[in-house]
Amino acid sequence: MPRAVIHASTPCRVFRGGRVFDGHAWQDGWTVVSDESGRISFAGTHAEIPTGAELVELDGRWLLPGLVDCHVHFREPGLVRKEGYATGSLGALHGGVTTVCEIQNNPPLMSSADLLREKLAALRGISRVDYAPYGSLVEEALPHLAAMRSLTPAVKCFLGCSTGAGGVDDEETMRRWFRAAAEAGVPIVAHCEDNAVMDAAAAELAPELRDRHDLNRPAAAETRSIADAMRVAHEVGARLHVFHISTTEGARMVAEAAAAGHAVQGSTAPHYLLATADEAHEASQNRFKVNPSIKSVADRSGLCAWITQGALCAIGTDHAPHPLEEKDRPYAKAPSGFPSVDLLLPLIVAVHDRHGVPLDALLRAVTSGPAREFGLSGKGSIASGMDADLVIVDPDASRIVDESQLPSKSKWSPYHGWELRAFPQQVYLRGALVMSGGAAVGDPIGRPIRSAPQSRPM
Ligand SMILES: [Zn+2]
Repeated sequence: MPRAVIHASTPCRVFRGGRVFDGHAWQDGWTVVSDESGRISFAGTHAEIPTGAELVELDGRWLLPGLVDCHVHFREPGLVRKEGYATGSLGALHGGVTTVCEIQNNPPLMSSADLLREKLAALRGISRVDYAPYGSLVEEALPHLAAMRSLTPAVKCFLGCSTGAGGVDDEETMRRWFRAAAEAGVPIVAHCEDNAVMDAAAAELAPELRDRHDLNRPAAAETRSIADAMRVAHEVGARLHVFHISTTEGARMVAEAAAAGHAVQGSTAPHYLLATADEAHEASQNRFKVNPSIKSVADRSGLCAWITQGALCAIGTDHAPHPLEEKDRPYAKAPSGFPSVDLLLPLIVAVHDRHGVPLDALLRAVTSGPAREFGLSGKGSIASGMDADLVIVDPDASRIVDESQLPSKSKWSPYHGWELRAFPQQVYLRGALVMSGGAAVGDPIGRPIRSAPQSRPM
């Protein structure tokens, strides 16, 4: 599949006069030029301005690579009444995201190359961002993993039950599945929570604490599951990425194993860096109910410290749309997860503003970090030859989040009423202007991304 198809109306553009974050560091005095093929032809100082180029004056604003959200659920195919790529990808642009790695956790699971191919093709003309859906690591996928390898960045495994997923609870099954993925050369991405630990914790809860999500799904469930998954992955030679780490201990375990040379990496999510268990418990309508649960103040601080150190390679939203009437059910019956891809950039800037995590560390975790981890070539950096996925941001413009104005389908947000800043003003995808002032521009031009997991170090 050709990656860089020329978009008919893509002009050559010159972006100048702003602060450029190139995916790795801030660069002052840079000019960035995108060409008619939708790629960056120059990024640096002393640019030659091509004749006829459209000049985009940044006037001190930020120019960022299009963000990569490595963990969203858009529910297409199968559950488009909750979302779908048409609204989900519009939400992504609103959050500054031009590439999504998406997890199908409603039927049909992505358990074969044919299903993945169908999905990749069906989303053309619907998605406004480029997309790389994960395959599903389930029993019926095992014979197809080798054929799936070139179609997906990784295969997703649920260790521990979550909304829409049963989860693996026995180690023999996990070992067999991990070995199959290792033999096929496909990396594994995992949701790590241990069912036995969660069942035991829930059984011991006093009646008045039974609606505490953090006590039903305690820190020990995550750390136990991460330990088991890392041990088995190492034993069978699988490459493992632990998603949405919610505990400082879980982050420590992954960071230390990675530093010791094991093929493991991890990511967290904005809500673990911004909210606490008490705040989540107090939020109305189960809005912050999410798996893994949001943990303690100490976990939030610890995770901020690990992001500061660069020990977690990515921050993904875990955008998980549900209608508010479902979230508003009694605690035990409310689904887990909430929409948030539409706020990714303002949320990570809020982590900086509230908790002092350096902006460059946060921005790496939503640009070059996930692009490298998931083999998304052309994405996540501003450099010559990369896709001209660009976001213009006025960092000083703040506003109060109004959930009714968010583009994704749910029309509610746990961040409703929060004052945030750094909302994207213009977003370009492969050189084409695709969003301006919060509104979509043009037809959807999102394309599937062929990642190259086999070329990454194992
Ligand atoms: Zn998820």
